[in-house]
Amino acid sequence: MTSVKKGIIMGMANKFSIACGISESLKDNGADLIFLVQTEYFKEKISEMAKNFSNNEIFVCDVIQDGAIEKTFDEIFEKFGPIDFIVHSIAFSDKNELQGKYLNTSRANFLNTMNISCYSFTEVCKNAQKIMPNGGSVLCLTYYGSEKVVPNYNVMAIAKAALESSVRYLANDLGEFGIRVNAISAGPIKTLAASGVGEFSKILEYDRNRSPLKRNVTQKDIADACVFLLSNMSAGITGEIIHVDCGCNTIGVNF
Ligand code: NAP
Repeated sequence: MTSVKKGIIMGMANKFSIACGISESLKDNGADLIFLVQTEYFKEKISEMAKNFSNNEIFVCDVIQDGAIEKTFDEIFEKFGPIDFIVHSIAFSDKNELQGKYLNTSRANFLNTMNISCYSFTEVCKNAQKIMPNGGSVLCLTYYGSEKVVPNYNVMAIAKAALESSVRYLANDLGEFGIRVNAISAGPIKTLAASGVGEFSKILEYDRNRSPLKRNVTQKDIADACVFLLSNMSAGITGEIIHVDCGCNTIGVNF
């Protein structure tokens, strides 16, 4: 039996979001969920969808604002008590720089991309300690573009490489508190964020054709692996980047 109890979901924009799939699988495994969104607009937008979950509380937390994560986590702890898991499913970059050469990345977008897509995870983990007095599991989402060049992924790849390295350092820092930190490296899946990457449909097609399973990954494939990493079934796993990509990038080219 998996055991996932009460947790925070960051990054559910709509029904196509990876976070939405993760929430569905967590619900199926009996978890209570608390949602964090960037703005009041998105709070309104997901409010109907959130009603499908046993706890439909939504908090606004723009991770780029100083102190926003700490303040929101404090409010959550006060209202709900100890938390068992956190899912960070957040990334952002200017789509004008997710095409063409990485060489042309501007300093402003480099810093903004790193801030939202990487640093926010460190801040989440720092504040996780306070709301997870009994230990827990923290998870983020990454992509293979961090390991090898994927056309147009550009600065997001650099942010994901830093995010993956952060996972190892954060796992090391938080291990003594019984908090595990892992990442799922998901295969490409059509979402709002992914549609900002130039020629994304070509990436999907390329992966579909060369993956051992001869298909693209689904929201549920990713979500079920997340449930495993968030539950006590993975109690001995921390600091790992787990590929959920139909074997495509794990095994390599498959003719
Ligand atoms: P998505 O539905 O567009 O989700 C991205 C989320 O990031 C949105 O919910 C957005 O929140 C949130 N976000 C952006 N800036 C934020 C900020 N300043 N503060 C708080 N939240 C912010 O796209 P997705 O594909 O599911 O992405 C989820 C994660 O999976 C990302 O880390 C992405 O890199 C990763 N991933 C995606 C793929 C793929 O192919 N789709 C593959 C591997 C990994 P708002 O909607 O409230 O703005």
